[in-house]
Amino acid sequence: MKILAINTGGSSFKYQLFDMEAERVLAKGNCENIGDEKCFIAHTLKDIKTGCGKETIKRHGLKTYTDALKMLVLLLTDKKYGIINDIDEIAAIGHRVVQGADLYSKPVLINEEVACNIKKLADLAPVHNLASASVISCCLEIFRRIPEVAVFDTAFHSTIPDYAYMFGLPYRYYEKYKIRKYGFHGISHQYVSQKYSDLVGKSLKELKIISCHLGNGCSVTAIDGGRSVETSMGFTPLDGLLMGTRSGSLDPSVVTYVMKKEGLSSEQMDEILNKESGYLGLSGLASDSRVIVDAAINGNELANLVIKMQSHRIKKYIGGYAAVMNGLDALLFTGGIGENSYFTRKLVCADMDFFSLQLDKKLNAETNEGCRRISEKDSKDIWIIPTNEEWMIAKEAKNLLSRIS
Ligand code: ADP
Repeated sequence: MKILAINTGGSSFKYQLFDMEAERVLAKGNCENIGDEKCFIAHTLKDIKTGCGKETIKRHGLKTYTDALKMLVLLLTDKKYGIINDIDEIAAIGHRVVQGADLYSKPVLINEEVACNIKKLADLAPVHNLASASVISCCLEIFRRIPEVAVFDTAFHSTIPDYAYMFGLPYRYYEKYKIRKYGFHGISHQYVSQKYSDLVGKSLKELKIISCHLGNGCSVTAIDGGRSVETSMGFTPLDGLLMGTRSGSLDPSVVTYVMKKEGLSSEQMDEILNKESGYLGLSGLASDSRVIVDAAINGNELANLVIKMQSHRIKKYIGGYAAVMNGLDALLFTGGIGENSYFTRKLVCADMDFFSLQLDKKLNAETNEGCRRISEKDSKDIWIIPTNEEWMIAKEAKNLLSRIS
């Protein structure tokens, strides 16, 4: 069975075509800058034997999602590079959808009603849900006979109890606008926790895990017995940790105070909180953590402050979530920063003996790829688990198909 997983971002998407039985990637790629002259699709064929990238083909001049998806079909079925003869060989297409709110706590088959709801929920995640809605509507046109499945980032967090997801606002706002914590990055947190449990050969039911997804967006999740019980992102992906350009948590009165002082509209304030804050806003340098870490190591005080603020916040979540779960078996790192930045992991895990967490300095500094344990022998488990949201999406699509067929 072949499943195509599409992971849509703001103006980009990543995809992987899987052979589900062999658990193998047949082709993968990404399309960036949609709607811009610089738009391209980079398509990598996988070597069947080694699973490594064999050849990357780049195509430019794509203006819309429809152009990009039509090009993807051409690349997948190309006489020379093609991996399939006909798109009907694809059994299903799985889509990552960021916001499913309280409508979807499980993956669903996409029909007109679901497509319409995804668009409606864009109110709660404008950039991501609108992009997903566009990609889904193009796919419904292009891949007419192929079942399409929506896998929601919020669904994994639907097990968070009400006392953890409610805010201390008048209850009427929850009733009127469904204002509550939803949490995000659920597909990634679910993938890394399942992968860890497979690797150590222990059932998820008996594990208390804290998963740190640190990328451009950052979140920490407490996973008790395989269920998300707390997470750092909230009503939107703005809450919690510092991020590339997002502020993370702050005292809400700061928002109204700055708006008043600077005469800002809610749209302008939204832009500042989402696009001009976090690593970029604090350091004035960049949103990319590599730039910040390098600057911090080279003595830039603001960059150093950013890194210290971030590791301090992550530590607070680890302590809080260990208390919420009344225990901890494993701390997992994933995402571009979590997987690659030894420096960030070092600061986060420093002085955590109280929790029996001790990084092995040598293992932490190694630059190997793949899943690996980086804690000392007597420490609780600390692992790096590279995320693979596309695999999780494909697996969920396959499970749904087998349940309904
Ligand atoms: P997204 O959340 O958009 O999927 P990623 O998970 O790719 O983003 O993470 C992007 C972040 O990862 C950037 O801040 C980048 O600097 C960081 N990153 C990527 N590679 C490295 C590396 N080798 N060392 C340190 N940070 C890295």
